[in-house]
Amino acid sequence: MRQSQLFTKTQKTSPKDEESKNAQLLIRAGFIHKEMAGVYTYLPLGLRVFNKIAQIIREEMNAIGGQELLMTTLQSPEIWKLSGRWGQEQTDSRSGLPWFKTKLASGGELGIANTHEEALTTILCQHVSSYKDLPIYAYQFQNKFRNELRVKNGIMRTREFVMKDLYSFSRSEEEFRVFYEKCAASYLRIFKRLGIGDATFRTFASGGAFSKFSDEFQTLSEVGEDSIYLDRKKQIAVNEEIYTNEVLADLGLKKDTLEKVKSIEVGNIFPLGTKYSDALGLKYRDERGEQKPVVMGSYGIGLGRSLGAVVEVHADEKGMVWPLSIAPFHVHLIALAGVEAETEKLYKELSRTMEVLYDDRTEVRAGEKFADADLIGIPYRVVVSKKTLEEESVEVKERKSGHIDRIPITELQNFLTRPL
Ligand code: ATP
Ligand code: MG
Repeated sequence: MRQSQLFTKTQKTSPKDEESKNAQLLIRAGFIHKEMAGVYTYLPLGLRVFNKIAQIIREEMNAIGGQELLMTTLQSPEIWKLSGRWGQEQTDSRSGLPWFKTKLASGGELGIANTHEEALTTILCQHVSSYKDLPIYAYQFQNKFRNELRVKNGIMRTREFVMKDLYSFSRSEEEFRVFYEKCAASYLRIFKRLGIGDATFRTFASGGAFSKFSDEFQTLSEVGEDSIYLDRKKQIAVNEEIYTNEVLADLGLKKDTLEKVKSIEVGNIFPLGTKYSDALGLKYRDERGEQKPVVMGSYGIGLGRSLGAVVEVHADEKGMVWPLSIAPFHVHLIALAGVEAETEKLYKELSRTMEVLYDDRTEVRAGEKFADADLIGIPYRVVVSKKTLEEESVEVKERKSGHIDRIPITELQNFLTRPL
């Protein structure tokens, strides 16, 4: 893509109404736009990253048997009354659901979805009757609306956000557990592919009525809202909320090997037991013809929160630093004055095999182009100048290390796609 065609502009200074690094950098670089507190639009550069994150999650969910669907934002109160969650408004931070509700012009109330257990369980009542119909693993990427009392940390705690939410429907607790562990492993692969694997740990958190624990996936960061106790050797952690002697004994963890750290909850998996299948009547007939309730689990990842976490973990004083796997472009090609024709040719060649952002702006000085490239954070910056062309080469800078190489044009393609 030609940067001259990109409608977004970069900003030199940080927006005054944002404290978090992720929002400041994403806004300055033109990845997102703030509509109001806790509500953000994804602009073209931001959407490219967002879509890559979604695609990685999609591939990993499909690999463990997930089937994608798309449920509705508007929710009928009826099914929520059956589970007892319609009247449950948020009163303090953790109790109740943070509902947004609205009214129909023709009369009656509607809910704006904040989660989808009720909706999917209701759908499956029409599709499940026998043990042969199970297990089912269904997921979506869908907007969630949450009337959070406090929004903070930029795109990491918002009132509208896209979540990947998967729900599992199993015949027994044992069958459920097998999938639960598969999904936990899948989450670790996802965060690794997003470039935050080294900083992300499976963390024991409080369960519900059906299970002692749920699991969170927590990314270490000073700006995280959570505190966890981490055993680096075992690669597991315990959320501060359940940090008791009893829990440590259960998990075989010792106080003196645990380190207290701040972290961001990027994902969450939760055993639901038969809470929703009982409430909404989702049953199946087993091999002996007996009616049994379906055993459920829910598995969430916030896309914006994950994107924000990547920014927080990797950014430096000059701007963002994207891992190649989710970078908006592979290469940022920069033309300096006087070599436009040669750079244009290189742009066309490289674009055949990789995603290139081509800074073809003629009115912008070199220094400004370099500062923008650092801010936007594309993994490779390629600069063509008269001097490099004399040697039939270009200058390649790796954004992460700042390392600069002179690469012959004939070898550029191979250099940029070499395995790291
Ligand atoms: P939190 O503890 O952060 O309030 P939660 O436990 O309510 O989140 P879930 O309902 O389990 O979260 O949602 C699954 C995932 O959705 C979370 O792990 C997080 O990545 C994301 N998420 C939850 N709330 C928000 C929010 N307000 N803004 C952005 N992402 C969110
Ligand atoms: Mg949570």
